[in-house]
Amino acid sequence: MGELDFPGLSIQLSFDGATAATHDLVRGSGAFDQLLHGARSLVGAGLGRRIAIFFTEMAHNLEEIPRLLELADGLGVGSVATGALVLCGRASEGSPVSPPEPDQYLRLLDRFDADPALSALYRRLAKVAALEWRRGGAPREEACTFVENPYLSAAGKLYPCVLCHADPYAVTGLFDKSLAEAFAEGAPLWSKLLQASERRPEEIEKCRQCSERLTCAGGCLGRAWGSCGEIMAPDDRCQARLAVSGRPPTQ
Ligand code: SF4
Ligand code: SF4
Repeated sequence: MGELDFPGLSIQLSFDGATAATHDLVRGSGAFDQLLHGARSLVGAGLGRRIAIFFTEMAHNLEEIPRLLELADGLGVGSVATGALVLCGRASEGSPVSPPEPDQYLRLLDRFDADPALSALYRRLAKVAALEWRRGGAPREEACTFVENPYLSAAGKLYPCVLCHADPYAVTGLFDKSLAEAFAEGAPLWSKLLQASERRPEEIEKCRQCSERLTCAGGCLGRAWGSCGEIMAPDDRCQARLAVSGRPPTQ
């Protein structure tokens, strides 16, 4: 990979913690050490800036985000992004992992506010939704950006994006058809889904009355489907977002 002359090359490494204890709870014993070994090998081959760390925010690991940023900076990786666990699939009931609570996000914000060096590191390296939400930001102009990042499952189902695993809107049997055929079949389904996504801020009653309606616009349709099986439901991070939006950044 080091010899590839491809500016778009990005290598995502998935961290579920900044320590072996938290990461291995999800990934299995020894996984964190292997992950670090892989990261250092990439850095050693001159690919550190190509590494994009993705960290799944969970109740048991959220407080490790500052530590993760320091780890990433020490390794010399290009970027860090995080996203909250969706309570579905293997993360559903009975699982040892769960999404963070709103209070945990507030404590995380306090840590960033109390540490200017950490905030500067964040601005240079990372994107954490909760830290971005409270900056307010411009009104959200587009609903979903379907098809920019389509997701093909191992079972041969093509979904319009990585977070929207809604079977009624999936193209099936991908291993027996061309990608062009699959996109032609998916386009009308995803067009309907996009129209639904655009209607969400107005049709979901809670969103219609929400102070965050213009910037959040109902959040992510895929997360709503994953967490409660409905397209016209608020994003599952709604409570956290509402808690955080009342706390503007101090720096
Ligand atoms: S479902 Fe969520 S992740 Fe997918 S395009 Fe829409 S907002 Fe983005
Ligand atoms: S914060 Fe919650 S209620 Fe408000 S727009 Fe977003 S999903 Fe809807």
